Amino acid sequence: MSATLTSVLPQNIFETVFKNSPGSLLIMADLPRFTILAASDDYLEITSSVREEVVGRGFFEVFPDEDVDEDVRISARSQFTKVVNTRQKSDVPAYRYDMFNPETNKYTEHYWSCSNTPIFGTDNEVAYILNTVVDITEEVRAKEAAIESESRLRLAAEATSLATWDLNLEDQSFIYSPRLVEIFGHPVDRAITLDDVRKQVNPDDMLNIVLTSYHESLKTGNYLYEVRIYWPDKSLHWIKTQGIVLKDEKKQPVRMLGTILDITESKRDEIRKNDFIAMASHELKTPLTSIKAYLQLLTKKLANSEDDFTHTALLKANIQVNKMTNLIHGFLDLSKLEPGKFHLKLKDFDINKLIEDSIAEINHTGHDHIIEFERVKRLTVQADREKIGQVINNFLSNAIKYSDKGSKVTVSCRRTKGYVKVLVSDEGIGIKPKEQSKLFQRFYRVENEKMKNISGFGIGLYLASEIIQGHKGKIGVKSEEGKGATFYFILPLAA
Ligand code: ADP
Repeated sequence: MSATLTSVLPQNIFETVFKNSPGSLLIMADLPRFTILAASDDYLEITSSVREEVVGRGFFEVFPDEDVDEDVRISARSQFTKVVNTRQKSDVPAYRYDMFNPETNKYTEHYWSCSNTPIFGTDNEVAYILNTVVDITEEVRAKEAAIESESRLRLAAEATSLATWDLNLEDQSFIYSPRLVEIFGHPVDRAITLDDVRKQVNPDDMLNIVLTSYHESLKTGNYLYEVRIYWPDKSLHWIKTQGIVLKDEKKQPVRMLGTILDITESKRDEIRKNDFIAMASHELKTPLTSIKAYLQLLTKKLANSEDDFTHTALLKANIQVNKMTNLIHGFLDLSKLEPGKFHLKLKDFDINKLIEDSIAEINHTGHDHIIEFERVKRLTVQADREKIGQVINNFLSNAIKYSDKGSKVTVSCRRTKGYVKVLVSDEGIGIKPKEQSKLFQRFYRVENEKMKNISGFGIGLYLASEIIQGHKGKIGVKSEEGKGATFYFILPLAA
């Protein structure tokens, strides 16, 4: 090979090429001296040496072996000897060899990657070794920094009781931080598999939440959900998991990363609060029902009275009692929204008829608005009639509540491909775009001057949204501040 090269390349060109090659030394295989025959400029620069002091001398006279890494496997002498004996190329991917800096008079930390290639002579024995060295200090530092920041992030996560995990979607390998084991109720040193974890999730939540979110996350790239899990001692706990899906260059999902937080305590608080609301509302219902009954009796008894004040007072009392009844029903419904407690009684019914009944009911409570309904021909949906009625009532009472007396409220019902859309529009105060998506959160109420005198608890739209989602439908709003609002929901039609 070298014979071919020198016959093709004149000696001076060969020298120029070698001088300009990155960190290279040409070493003679004259064990144990290993005489240096040539050095590239780059090699001289990284070792802070001069060509005259290097070329022609034994490698270990110039670079004493004891200065190199203590590990004999990667010391230069063992590498060169190995190349001569095995006749094979030998690489040392990374090793540390500190360099003396004459400016600071100190050694500075340096990392190198080196390879030793045999060059054979005419007798087919290893005659030379080509030793190439690359300074990889920057790469090593970057890697160390990445490892350090990763472990710091992990520490930070552990300090906030967050567990972290990483799932390889191709081979299903599952890596997790020790906190995850504790969150699932195991001793911290126990090794668990993804399968163990999955088996602990409540089966309903597995089906309705985990699998749905998983498929969704493959499309959207992220997920966030809460599920119930059972510890080995059969106690019930809640976890919240949040994370991202990483894709390869072909947009195929390859990894899922995330955090898990134990939210059992806050869930238990929430349940206690819901239980309290449910109990208090239940207790309030009985006296209220009897007040309502007495009011109705009085209204009947005084129907022929000439006294205007009595009529007005009874009408107002009736309106207030109805308001209170609706509120209490709302609170009772809210407490029923815990996972597993929300049951839909599906049946076929005509949505037009339900809208008409809802309008009649709201007209009965007394208001000063004009409600118009653009009905269509019979449209059968399969849903929980009472609950959908509750959504329509909420839209209607809000339309009245948040618009001026005498203004118009329009209800319409449209059929689109396989779906029915019900819309309630008003000419009222409207909602700013940035508030619109928040209206469906529990206890959310817009805060502004106009809202100050309008009472409410911000649970009606939350309940409506839960009901519509329970039917696999969609709920939404279109509005501009000061220009009225249109609330709508979409339901799949009966097959
Ligand atoms: P509540 O009316 O008891 O506050 P809801 O959950 O029914 O509770 O509504 C939440 C919030 O949405 C209301 O507080 C109000 O700010 C806003 N909102 C609802 N309907 C309308 C509407 N038709 N026009 C303007 N704002 C509305």
